[in-house]
Amino acid sequence: MSPKKGTIEEKLKKIRNAYINQLPEQLEGIRASYAAYVNRNQGGALSMEDLHRRIHTLKGACASFRLSMLSSAATAGELLTKEAMQSTTLPDGMWHHKMLELFGRMEQEISSIDPDQGMELQIHELEIATRGTSERERKVVYLCEDDSYQRLTLATQIGCFGFEVLSFGELDQLASAVQSAPPDAIVMDMTFPDKPHGGADIISFIQSGRPNPIPTLFISSLGSFDNRLAAVRAGSSGYFVKPVNMTELCSTLTRLTSAVKPEPYRIMIIDDDPQLAEYHSLILQDSGMISLVINDSLQVMAPLFEFKPDLILMDMYMPGCNGMELAKAIRQIGSYFSIPIVYLSSETDLDKQYQALVIGGDAFLTKPIDPQRLVNSVVSRAERMKIIRSQMVRDSMTGLFNHTATKEQLDTAIAHAQRKQEEVCFAMIDVDKFKRVNDTYGHPIGDRVLIALASLIRQRVRKTDTVGRFGGEEFAVILPDCSLAVAVDLLNEVRESFSTLSFQAKEEAFSCTFSCGVAPLSLFGDATALNAGADEALYAAKHRGRNLVVAAEGR
Ligand code: GH3
Ligand code: MG
Ligand code: MG
Repeated sequence: MSPKKGTIEEKLKKIRNAYINQLPEQLEGIRASYAAYVNRNQGGALSMEDLHRRIHTLKGACASFRLSMLSSAATAGELLTKEAMQSTTLPDGMWHHKMLELFGRMEQEISSIDPDQGMELQIHELEIATRGTSERERKVVYLCEDDSYQRLTLATQIGCFGFEVLSFGELDQLASAVQSAPPDAIVMDMTFPDKPHGGADIISFIQSGRPNPIPTLFISSLGSFDNRLAAVRAGSSGYFVKPVNMTELCSTLTRLTSAVKPEPYRIMIIDDDPQLAEYHSLILQDSGMISLVINDSLQVMAPLFEFKPDLILMDMYMPGCNGMELAKAIRQIGSYFSIPIVYLSSETDLDKQYQALVIGGDAFLTKPIDPQRLVNSVVSRAERMKIIRSQMVRDSMTGLFNHTATKEQLDTAIAHAQRKQEEVCFAMIDVDKFKRVNDTYGHPIGDRVLIALASLIRQRVRKTDTVGRFGGEEFAVILPDCSLAVAVDLLNEVRESFSTLSFQAKEEAFSCTFSCGVAPLSLFGDATALNAGADEALYAAKHRGRNLVVAAEGR
């Protein structure tokens, strides 16, 4: 066990044990709140809202600590209190009976908790996710969460991902800390005692007094539209439902706080008037965009594929073919089906404008256009396209490139290597006997193995390498400017690390291995042959007993 893992494990254990130890007291508080509600006519002041909030808090924290049985009892209790709050009549005998039964269940669950259960997987996930973060500069994150145990766990976990975390239990503490020293990002709980949208309210207040908003991620045990809307209105950059997926939260934090500027928008301008096109192009470039001008509407197709625009700005009337025809033709290409197309024309006839929009435009701007209006119209729509495109290329479970995108990356890497006369290696990785993992421990545990492997590969290869999820339990790695021998060594290191990871499923720990085939471009010549070469080598690795990296032999 590495020293780092030791400290994370100790910290987590401490927090978890402290949390588990206070559970009887927390349940006592819930019971007292219930009693106060029952006796409210004899001077008890507490309401059903108080009971609801207490059970709700219990639910959220239990899920975070993977205490699933207790969390499910709390979920049932929360539903009961909600039912009572929404009803116009007072809870009946049956309701009280169910509630008391739930308290009994909670008590029983609390007395039978095994403190170590559910810990291991959490630790492994953390360990994998935190590798290689030490060399990065540490960004400051403020965390605001009223529940002290969740606050501690979250702070520890976010800290493990290489952030400097300062945590706050109360809203005004956070507000004054931001005022004296603004952080790089904020992680904000949504619900506070007596303030269902307390998190969103304070963030709105904080942001309103600032020239630039601070990136803020909301966390909440509720994923309701109401809460999400409150977060959006407060200017949130993300919304995570508890138990929070820490890998996702922290990679979002990394993206939001990294100094690397996002890629500029790419705008294609199609207009037969060269000067006007150039003028519009200048306006967009002046706002930091990249633009390409096409004057001949019949010459659009080739630049479309090379330039890969995020948005097309198009004149309506051009010789050769008009804007509406062109929009239709572009939308018939699968990957451009949803590209935003904005018409820019002197057409002022509303009927004609309407017709053009029906046929496939997103907006209609009339010439002459106010530069600021042009920029605004373009930015909002180009942003949408960028997000759609990133969803098209990423695998949602692992965040790696999907099959199609990986193949495109391979083509690009090969073209680059051929230009520079360099080597490029292609590797295929397939988990050994993975079907058995699913059959023995269940699909969700299988998924965790794949997520762990994905993040392990990504962290072990170089920045310039591309990692993709090729299929179910198959991954691909593209290693530009890398000899076959170096590629084999690197993949062997990943293979060894992976085989030492242990995964926890209920009572039993298990580990997995993978087999890998690697092929160099110099022996195969093109993408299809390279792919087949790696595949054959992978097959050979399986055949020779698995848990091996095999280099392709060429043909
Ligand atoms: P081998 O060592 O020969 O590769 O054996 P294997 O069992 O790994 O190979 P096989 O191709 O027979 O089985 C792959 C299994 O992977 C079958 C499929 O159910 C499972 N699988 C594919 N995608 C996913 C996924 O996203 N999640 C999980 N949990 N399982 C998946
Ligand atoms: Mg397999
Ligand atoms: Mg397979």
